[in-house]
Amino acid sequence: RSLEKVLTDGIRDIPDYPQAGVVFKDITPLLADHEGFSLVVQALATAGRDADGKVVIDKVVGIEARGFILAAPVALALGAGFVPVRKKGKLPSATYEESYALEYGEATIEVHQDAFEPGDRVLVIDDVLATGGTVEACLRLIRRCGAEVVGTTVLLELSFLPGRKRLDGEQVSALVTV
Ligand code: 5GP
Repeated sequence: RSLEKVLTDGIRDIPDYPQAGVVFKDITPLLADHEGFSLVVQALATAGRDADGKVVIDKVVGIEARGFILAAPVALALGAGFVPVRKKGKLPSATYEESYALEYGEATIEVHQDAFEPGDRVLVIDDVLATGGTVEACLRLIRRCGAEVVGTTVLLELSFLPGRKRLDGEQVSALVTV
């Protein structure tokens, strides 16, 4: 099967989750499909290589929680380290934190202050780009650590939300856009 086909087969719409009026994109069927998961990991990993296939990053950041599932195998595929960006209160050592607005209220994410070497080149991975608030806060965290963001790649971009506009000037790619 092609990448396009495994994505179509593996991502389903769940109406009214997590609240009425929202159509949630569920990627769990894709994760349960070995061929699909494997093709997606390979495709996401291309964001960490140059045109000649040379790896150009040192670390892959995964955003809790579905970002972890994708970012960890990409890090291994690229021979790079994995760094978790987590919701507030989950990381045990000293952290930096960044907050961002949600539709109702606020969210805070954190990273360990010593997660990167100075100048580390970083690829950020999450499952879905929606409003872009999560990725934007994540990029601020990485830069506060003195690391360099090479790019962000997601499985799915929701183009009816302003994520890409919000991340104007950043390198952002998606395997599929709806
Ligand atoms: P944003 O900050 O861009 O509005 O939201 C992105 C975050 O919310 C991502 O971490 C993503 O996991 C989650 N998210 C938002 N909408 C969906 C969705 O429809 N499906 C999935 N799987 N995750 C979503």
